[in-house]
Amino acid sequence: MRSHLLNDLTAEHYRRSVTEGVERVAARLATTDRPFTGVTPDALAPLVDRIDLDRPLYDTGAALDELEEVYLRDAVYFHHPRYLAHLNCPVVIPAVLGEAVLSAVNSSLDTWDQSAGGTLIERKLIDWTAGRIGLGPAADGVFTSGGTQSNLQALLLAREEAKPGPDDGDHPASLAKLRVFASEASHFSVRKSAKLLGLGQDAVVSIPVDHDKRMQTVALARALENCARDGLVPMAVVATAGTTDFGSIDPLPEIAELCEQYDVWMHVDAAYGCGLLASVRHRDRIDGIERADSVTVDYHKSFFQPVSSSAVLVRDAATLRHATYHADYLNPRRMAEERIPNQVDKSLQTTRRFDALKLWMTLRTMGADGIGELFDEVCDLAREGWRLLAADPRYDVVVEPSLSTLVFRYIPATVTDPAEIDRANLYARKALFASGDAVVAGTKVGGRHYLKFTLLNPETTAGDIAAVLDLIAGHAEQYLGDSLDRAC
Ligand SMILES: *Cc1c(COP(=O)(O)O)cnc(C)c1O
Repeated sequence: MRSHLLNDLTAEHYRRSVTEGVERVAARLATTDRPFTGVTPDALAPLVDRIDLDRPLYDTGAALDELEEVYLRDAVYFHHPRYLAHLNCPVVIPAVLGEAVLSAVNSSLDTWDQSAGGTLIERKLIDWTAGRIGLGPAADGVFTSGGTQSNLQALLLAREEAKPGPDDGDHPASLAKLRVFASEASHFSVRKSAKLLGLGQDAVVSIPVDHDKRMQTVALARALENCARDGLVPMAVVATAGTTDFGSIDPLPEIAELCEQYDVWMHVDAAYGCGLLASVRHRDRIDGIERADSVTVDYHKSFFQPVSSSAVLVRDAATLRHATYHADYLNPRRMAEERIPNQVDKSLQTTRRFDALKLWMTLRTMGADGIGELFDEVCDLAREGWRLLAADPRYDVVVEPSLSTLVFRYIPATVTDPAEIDRANLYARKALFASGDAVVAGTKVGGRHYLKFTLLNPETTAGDIAAVLDLIAGHAEQYLGDSLDRAC
């Protein structure tokens, strides 16, 4: 069994095994003609169930054969141009190479003595990102598992900075006074974070959005005013730079003004919009982000990185101390005094992957402009898609895109009952998924069911969009026809 341990004696086994796996994936990618096979949980589950984990195959090739059956054959493939559903990007090869290296060396980024150069590489990428944002000389941050964790950490720092009084501490009565302001289109992880941070049920104040799904700053100003009037404590304003559904970007400069005026922590959730940091042509769309106290970026959304690859950045490195605990066995205070860089001092995690290496390999191989160009292409494609939808009488499209999503709904020529239109759209999404021809997402707007394209694949064309719109219309009409038959 020791032949399976990766070490000086097993280099050849390592090379052969990994190459065999890479060959399988490469063959699968080359022959995948649909984003999904349409397999159902009922069809797939028995194949997984019947595998006896206590009866190993003792053979890499056989294990890969089996994996083809239970995973590779029916996986949902984000690289396919007709995968248009969630915020998943096709990944760039330098990052996949980085992934292979980081799991083989298996550094853990909690302490210098488990990572050495890995720590310095991560720090340099944090500095690079902070520089792109424009956070200033005292900025810092750390890689995280995703936007959810970044938002949680940012709000933890904001909470600690906002504590109503030095003696109030974590007393629930004082935490109950804290308020977080986020638009109604903000990510649900803001509410989840508030709960995890022990804030009151009403802690997150939902600010209405305008027609373009951007936070209404007049409403924010009013909410901040009310907060002060009621003797409550504003803890943070969360501005979203790229809402998950609409890609809309809150008016960052105006929000920054209000945060300054009311002395509130400004967090920018740029989990999605961070791709603009690398953009050659559209960087100005997130102007104002440089005024944030903290920023969430998800490289695994708009930098074409494999999951996970994310970070939280802060304007003032000192605020990260709120996440610092010293453990005798790992990162004693003495080490901080000796200036040994232990990233665990800044992180919510302890053992932590060297995800930064993927971004490093990407920047060193392709350059930031290469990533930015890919992101610009999908933003341009979304504009084209919007024009197609706006000109198509079969569809109602919600907003002109700021990034790369389109939210729309099929509107039949002959049916006016909104509930029936809801059902037709829900059916179309399901039927399309079952066919495997394309994968699209869905969401609700004003209580009604809509469909959503998240365009993150530069290989997707306007022709793909037009073809998928035809498929959706076909399924929706099929439903309405059947429904008419049922009624007769
Ligand atoms: C996706 C997303 C998140 C959550 O990020 P994860 O990486 O999925 O945890 C947070 N905020 C916004 C705006 C997002 O789009």
